[in-house]
Amino acid sequence: MCHLARRIILPGSPEGFCFRAGGDRCLQSMPTANVSKDHPALKCATLFAMMNDDASTPDRPISFTVTATDAASAARAGTLTTPHGVIQTPMFMPVGTQASVKALAPDDLTALGAQIILGNTYHLLLRPGPELIADFGGLHHFMGWHGPMLTDSGGFQVFSLGHLRALTDDGVTFRSHLDGNEVRLTPERVIAVEEQIGADIILPLDECPPYPCDEATMRRATERTHRWAERAIAARKRPDQALFGIPQGGMSAELRAWSAETISALPFDGFSIGGLSVGEPKEVMWAMAAATVPHLDPTRPRHLLGVGSPEDLVEGVAHGMDLFDCVLPTRVARNGGLYTPTGRVNIRAARWRAEHGPVQAGCDCWTCQRFSAAYLHHLARAEELLYYRLGTIHNLRFLIRQMAQMRAAICDGTFAQWRADFHARYQPASAAKREEQREKWLARHSANPDRAP
Ligand SMILES: [Zn+2]
Repeated sequence: MCHLARRIILPGSPEGFCFRAGGDRCLQSMPTANVSKDHPALKCATLFAMMNDDASTPDRPISFTVTATDAASAARAGTLTTPHGVIQTPMFMPVGTQASVKALAPDDLTALGAQIILGNTYHLLLRPGPELIADFGGLHHFMGWHGPMLTDSGGFQVFSLGHLRALTDDGVTFRSHLDGNEVRLTPERVIAVEEQIGADIILPLDECPPYPCDEATMRRATERTHRWAERAIAARKRPDQALFGIPQGGMSAELRAWSAETISALPFDGFSIGGLSVGEPKEVMWAMAAATVPHLDPTRPRHLLGVGSPEDLVEGVAHGMDLFDCVLPTRVARNGGLYTPTGRVNIRAARWRAEHGPVQAGCDCWTCQRFSAAYLHHLARAEELLYYRLGTIHNLRFLIRQMAQMRAAICDGTFAQWRADFHARYQPASAAKREEQREKWLARHSANPDRAP
């Protein structure tokens, strides 16, 4: 086994470590002498960073280095090293709800530049179940994605998808949307499930208060989230997984600041800011983000839960966020909405019927390199399965390329200009249009929540 694999092997890992970030070859048996920064199988310097970084040793599951900051905003560029690879931040995480980023294979994700994906504990707990995933050596092995991975706690889905039966300080009981069985989740049980699933970064159970709600409800949910955070820390057993804390605080700047300070004082490896993008106006969301970030330890990474439209990613980065996840870009793609530098277009619209060029001129994604917009238009209207893959590849590549552009601008000291140029050019979907689409989507999926990402 090579020097590299020896350095990043994890105790309890059934078969050691197979590193494939950026390449598709297993380097496990490659002699150390052959592993150089220029090796074509690596395509990036990330592996070298790991060789020289003790962060992936079990006592420190991840390490995070801020490499550049923006003078005019809270934006920053960094490097996050995990046991399964390195993430150049800021970065967007495609969501793999049920051990799959809908319509894509892991090789598609690698090809479009995804560096980390997110799995939903709620869905995986109900089906296929954490015992089965553990029996396959964890979710990386089960689904064939060997890069970094984060699992959420399932709390958000319990409150939004599950049929809540009881919520007490001890935990939550809900009815599974699959078979109606009662399921109990406590902070301890969530950690045990996430340890079986085996992601690089895991999240504790939290209570996300509804929007809108009164101050007393916000405070109660925030206090409970803090108590559950301490229980999650006490319950963790695996030293090779990072645990991010979730600050809450509803839509109160005062509660947000208090929650951020409380969570930051605990030995979490990073933060996943919760309870935003739950229906509040955009200006309120950014005010709450601004009330949170200054109270978080700046040396640890910040993830903004559930935010992922192109314009929100720009503002999220400007507010100091390092990681994002959202089902929006993949869901929107499946519904015919494709991103372009000037805004989202509907590929089903008649204007694309005979378009010989790609949906976005100059896009480096596989879809645009290979297929005309007219072909996508035809596939989408015919509801051909290939459309879902091609549309999803374009939207995810669009966002990941946007993240790389922002990172480069932060490093060059030109982020303020980049941000201004983006907003001058990009026309976001209007609030009314967004709400109409959300209602349509909810109406379609409420009868069958199993399809809901
Ligand atoms: Zn494209």
